[in-house]
Amino acid sequence: MDILLHVCCGPCTIYPLSVLRGEGHRVRGYFYNPNIHPYREFRRRIGALVTLMEKTGFKAEIDREYGLAMYMRRVVFNEEQRCAICYDIRLEETARKAAEQGADAFTTTLLYSRYQNHGLLQEKCSLYARKYGVEFLYRDFRLGWQEGIDRAIELGLYRQPYCGCIYSEQERYDKKLRRRMRQQRLETDSDTGPSSRHGMEICSIQDK
Ligand code: SF4
Repeated sequence: MDILLHVCCGPCTIYPLSVLRGEGHRVRGYFYNPNIHPYREFRRRIGALVTLMEKTGFKAEIDREYGLAMYMRRVVFNEEQRCAICYDIRLEETARKAAEQGADAFTTTLLYSRYQNHGLLQEKCSLYARKYGVEFLYRDFRLGWQEGIDRAIELGLYRQPYCGCIYSEQERYDKKLRRRMRQQRLETDSDTGPSSRHGMEICSIQDK
């Protein structure tokens, strides 16, 4: 099948690409991530993807438009839902592009990360697959988590320390905020159990 693979970054692409190629699919990439801030980080992640493309012969379209304003307009006042909104932004555009290009199916490297909300990603992909009339190819790429990391190190790729948005950058480096979040999680879990957490917390700490 012809697959359009949404690419969140170079390191997270390695394992999904090897699985899809191993299954005999023709894979094209699409880097579309207006959530990544600040600008120098955005450029750095594109640089890592370009290195991966050069080293593996992977072809991908890279949207180099820096999406700070658009992303913030969607998320401000909805911060608690920001990961769901972030998935909507990236996955809807990927499904739309897959349909436009006549791809047989689309999928995303976000399904590789142990830190993303895997179930919500599946829901969103299925939603946009129906909306644009293109198949969503589901694979649990988390199975190759360590393999992907090892290969990224071998290739010398830049591996980012946080998920992407400016909120996740603060959560990665602001010790006071991390302590507060841990405390809130403990309180929430003791009241209602871990299932009541918001998506925002699920992918808050990206230590890839
Ligand atoms: S933490 Fe990650 S998935 Fe969630 S909004 Fe930020 S960049 Fe998007």
